[in-house]
Amino acid sequence: MERSTIVRVHEGLHARPATRFVKLAKGFESDVELVKDGKAVSAKSSVKLMLLAVKENQEVTVRANGADAIEALEALIGYLENPRAGLDDEAEAQSPANDAGQEAAPAPGSVPAAPGGANRLRGVAASEGFAIGPAFAHFPPDIAGQGRMLRAEEIKGEIDRFRTAVGAVQARMDHALAQDSLSAGDRGIVAALRDIAADNSLTGEAEGLIKGGNDAVSAVITAASTIAAEFSAVDDHYLNARADDVHAVGRQICLVLLGQDDVSLENIPEGAILIADDIGAWDLARAPLKRIGGVVCGHGGATSHIAIIARSHGIPAVLGLGDQVNALRTARDVALDGNAGHVIIDPDEATRADFAGRVEAAAKERAGLTIFKTVTPKLADGRIIEVAANIGSLEEIEAAQEAGAMGIGLFRTELLFMRHMHLPSEDMQAETYAALAKAFAPYPVIVRTLDIGGDKPIAGIEFPDEENPFLGWRGIRMCLDRPDIFKRQLRALLRAAVHGNIKVMLPMVSDLSEVRQTRVLVDECTAELKAEGVPHASFDLGVMIETPAAVLIAPALAKEVAFFSIGTNDLTQYIMAADRLNPTVAKLNDVTNPAVMSAIEMTAKAGVAAGIMVGMCGEAAGRPDLIATFVKMGLTELSMSPASIQRAKKAIMAMATEG
Ligand code: PEP
Ligand code: MG
Repeated sequence: MERSTIVRVHEGLHARPATRFVKLAKGFESDVELVKDGKAVSAKSSVKLMLLAVKENQEVTVRANGADAIEALEALIGYLENPRAGLDDEAEAQSPANDAGQEAAPAPGSVPAAPGGANRLRGVAASEGFAIGPAFAHFPPDIAGQGRMLRAEEIKGEIDRFRTAVGAVQARMDHALAQDSLSAGDRGIVAALRDIAADNSLTGEAEGLIKGGNDAVSAVITAASTIAAEFSAVDDHYLNARADDVHAVGRQICLVLLGQDDVSLENIPEGAILIADDIGAWDLARAPLKRIGGVVCGHGGATSHIAIIARSHGIPAVLGLGDQVNALRTARDVALDGNAGHVIIDPDEATRADFAGRVEAAAKERAGLTIFKTVTPKLADGRIIEVAANIGSLEEIEAAQEAGAMGIGLFRTELLFMRHMHLPSEDMQAETYAALAKAFAPYPVIVRTLDIGGDKPIAGIEFPDEENPFLGWRGIRMCLDRPDIFKRQLRALLRAAVHGNIKVMLPMVSDLSEVRQTRVLVDECTAELKAEGVPHASFDLGVMIETPAAVLIAPALAKEVAFFSIGTNDLTQYIMAADRLNPTVAKLNDVTNPAVMSAIEMTAKAGVAAGIMVGMCGEAAGRPDLIATFVKMGLTELSMSPASIQRAKKAIMAMATEG
């Protein structure tokens, strides 16, 4: 007995929905199979189901054979047709392997060493702040099997040993999931690993190898490699990242078999600098973040999972060191500068004193700044300057609120798109934007429409190979060419705008027509939502000023938009023709260069003359040495990383008292 249907499950049968589907299937006595493109797999194995790579809107057939086949078909088809199936708080979270897999980490060794000697390395400045402390190297050893064939009489005992080890790993993961202290994100990571440990694909494969005479450790290593290779071969970024999860589970089983403890982060000393090539899902979920003084990693970049966690916990981090990280394996002490991306191995006395001074000064400064958390900075003439936060995920809301953010001046939506294996649905986006609006009401929340470029591919959008991705198909250019993607985001924003404080801004604008075309799409979306009876409201539409063209047409743009937000990161690179990612031209990439400052001034003048709000959301907005200049130019909103907010409020208050 079989029935076909179109899968409506959000993002298809990826990890959690696949496991839920399997659980449902296992509740029936009948044999159940899922068939896609002529390939049939048991619906009672989540690994096999995931490997079938069933996506949203694809056609599949459910086949059931047994006494309760009718009921099974009914239930399973109902599940597949439910867009929210399998979605719960655990499903929101991603495996860090997925996040890290999407990162544009520099190629190993491609980052030049920091100036100042062989013991200095340079990586990606991923979380600001200074740290100095004992090195805690986290390079888990490779695991090896016994490499001998078992005698026939040993096999049964080895299978029992293996099953006990699998049970122990599952119990350990269940125990971790039962901890209240686990955040929603970490819970999702552990749940994904537990699902693999509980599935008979890995364990069945390993048992088959033990029966063939392999010792349990060798069997697990081989089985994990086989299944991981299958995940790696699927044409889907998300499923490729599951290969790391399979290895992580295999490793845990092997460690139990060997009676070894993994190099645990539980014992990391207070204030130590965690050094790793990569931090695995399991380790990350268990790390005592409060004790970690800093993080240095071979993998990862500024938007990786590690970076986000480090930033939201205020831990300085330098990531993306590539193979350079091996030089830190034997380090005793490490100093790190998360602002510049520098790492110093076994610093000499003078450097130690310098860093100790910086750490102390930073701590003192932080303590002294907390009084500014609730301050509303006002100038002598009564003008209020909004000091808002730049964030890229809901996980960062707390850090922004803790810092005293007066709303969100830049919500980077890229992460939302990069984290998922398919483009995020309208519902999912609307929920995210609404959650932001509610968290910061009545302050404004400025959501930037998708600013993705050829250098950062995301699943679901095919990017052409480009010689100069920064001058290519990115930001508003890509969105206007892909109204299917853009309209989904605009509809979600119109829906979230019912909360009253959502504003929307367009990245990479260089021509008036881009604003006009966007307005046409917004009107179309509004009409559609109205016809569908979906609650929605209008929003203020603004533009980022981050291209020289936008500066030069600022007076015309100001007549058509509700606000400007100056993106100094890109504006500086485009005005100075100096790649923002290229350390060799870092000197030119300087916002204080008179060319850039005059572009900012021209923008401010145009905005003020037209009576619209002019803000800034590039990194320069948080620089206390520049804030007074920007405010004098007429900027009334400054948006920055949460860690800079209190310092910025202080700088504005100082202006008020200085007159
Ligand atoms: C900018 O360019 O200044 C900006 C804020 O955007 P992003 O850094 O995301 O390009
Ligand atoms: Mg930009």
